[in-house]
Amino acid sequence: MARYIGPVCKLCRREGFKMFLKGERCFTPKCAFERRAFAPGEHGRAGAGRGGSDRASDYARQLRAKQQARRTYGVLEAQFRRYFGVAQSRRGLTGLNLLQTLEQRLDNVVYRMGYAVNRAEARQLVSHGHFTVNGRRTNIPSMLVNPNDVVEVRENSRQKPFFKELSDYAEKRACASWLDRDLKSLSGKFLRLPERAEIDGNLNEQLIVEYYSR
Ligand code: SF4
Repeated sequence: MARYIGPVCKLCRREGFKMFLKGERCFTPKCAFERRAFAPGEHGRAGAGRGGSDRASDYARQLRAKQQARRTYGVLEAQFRRYFGVAQSRRGLTGLNLLQTLEQRLDNVVYRMGYAVNRAEARQLVSHGHFTVNGRRTNIPSMLVNPNDVVEVRENSRQKPFFKELSDYAEKRACASWLDRDLKSLSGKFLRLPERAEIDGNLNEQLIVEYYSR
């Protein structure tokens, strides 16, 4: 299960918006994007040739859109391409299908329920086997959760200090509108697929579809 382990603040600066990859720090003045809102590297301030600049080519904009989505959800290239294949095989708009598929990932669902400070932490909690889906233990963060599936902290894990404090922590965090959360039992239900307006507005799924349709 490969994952990106490099500096994450650079990713926000590179993509030109806050992706909230670090948790609490993202909401403080220490946030690297607040202090240096330009791309990293020698030519970062110039922005020449970058996907966000006016002079960027179509390809550069498409590539950036794909990278932004990939980095937001913490998915590597090969898996992202597989998700695009899943999105294409579903009925409806491929771009929206892709974003919905990414939102269905178990680590994302745990994060959206407010049980983790960011998707990286959610991924770790899942891969350490602390969650069950429909009563069955799983350690696969990329598992896709479907409508009516119930995600729950495992019985044994609830005795651990981290999980004893989790409901107090999660109470301060919002739960996505397409999920239902029960803080008492540290569980939640996947009600339905999210609408486009409920997914990160910084992402441009149309450009991602164009990128893979070249
Ligand atoms: Fe991005 Fe958070 Fe780092 Fe700010 S602190 S640059 S939002 S990961």
